[in-house]
Amino acid sequence: MPIETVSPVLDGTPPRLRITGVECHVLLAPDYDASFTSSAQDSLVVVIHTDGGVSGVGECDANPWMAKACIEAPGTHTMGLSIRDMLIGSDPFEIGDLWRRMYLGTAMNGRRGMVIHAMSAVDMALWDLCGKAVGKPVHALLGGATRDRIVPYASLQPAGKSFEEYRDALCKSAEGALRLGFQAMKTEITMNGPYAHGGMRESYDRHTEVLAAVRKAVGPDVTLMVDVQYLWDDAETCLSVIGDWAEFNCYFLETPVWSDNERDMAKLAERAPMPIAFGEWLATRYEFESLMDVGKVQVAQPDVGRVGGIGEAKIVCDMAKARGRKIVPHCWKTGISISATAHLAFVTDHCAFIEYLPRELCHERLRRELAQEELVLASDGTIALPQKPGLGVEVDWDVVRRYTVG
Ligand SMILES: [Mg+2]
Repeated sequence: MPIETVSPVLDGTPPRLRITGVECHVLLAPDYDASFTSSAQDSLVVVIHTDGGVSGVGECDANPWMAKACIEAPGTHTMGLSIRDMLIGSDPFEIGDLWRRMYLGTAMNGRRGMVIHAMSAVDMALWDLCGKAVGKPVHALLGGATRDRIVPYASLQPAGKSFEEYRDALCKSAEGALRLGFQAMKTEITMNGPYAHGGMRESYDRHTEVLAAVRKAVGPDVTLMVDVQYLWDDAETCLSVIGDWAEFNCYFLETPVWSDNERDMAKLAERAPMPIAFGEWLATRYEFESLMDVGKVQVAQPDVGRVGGIGEAKIVCDMAKARGRKIVPHCWKTGISISATAHLAFVTDHCAFIEYLPRELCHERLRRELAQEELVLASDGTIALPQKPGLGVEVDWDVVRRYTVG
């Protein structure tokens, strides 16, 4: 079976470049809190260099030490090759061919999970590099933007240890997002289950109370999504709670059951009073194929820094379109990943929103300090088409140096 991949769309012959170096920086915020469920406290930043002096930057959303090892480990046989060795000496414009070589060449080390997450950072850096080399934004290399505005949704942040503190922090964050001009926002409501905030163990009724409070805080016109982060064991328990949630007019319900539980996802997709969204952890088109065809979810949420990179995310978007599903990418990382996600959204009309961690509202200093992406929230809550070459990201290399731990 041939493996379809995505390569840059170029007019004319690109400059002749060879990859000369692959740098992996493990970053960790000095004030990170291991009890805080936020992967935006660390990052693997990958920088790919060429003999022409042009370089590109990417990151992935996975344990940065593991991802670095996946890229730097030496190979020992033909189905367990070194990602770094495959890259050195290659033409960076052959992104699709490189992706296929990395996927096949590391087959005995993964095909899913960490190896693919690590490849995502490499792929992102290659797209950035190619855009910079030809002076074009990544969306142009993906075939050209199909719209001039996209709509980000603000991910609201909880805080506190008690039910009241948790509820009030989300309402306060929602009010902050409203003031910034967001048209859409997502509240987590996770006071139980595997992701339980701060070890809380609250009843399901109290989850409903938080949702009611956040809806009241934002008013009836704002698009509101809910993420319960794998709260329920099965569809029946979930339905016994969310059956009453229709009145809150949720745009989607994210990850109500465990990520492997596609049978129950399908039951929820059929019977829940709102669309069901999944996909933040998935790697490759193959996992999304199962998510959509077995799990039947209405909203697919590829994370560019996990699914395999920009090209693999584009393939997932095309698969969703063919099935009449919406795309709302997951992104919980720095400006590098946010920018990569935005470029994808500008070539994806059925991408309804992108996830966006507002710098002004978030605790994570890597999000606030590492990179400035060329994305400005207009007063109408939209983001205009970026114009700078590549991802259009300005990385603060002093921050990289300061927070590098490996
Ligand atoms: Mg989530």
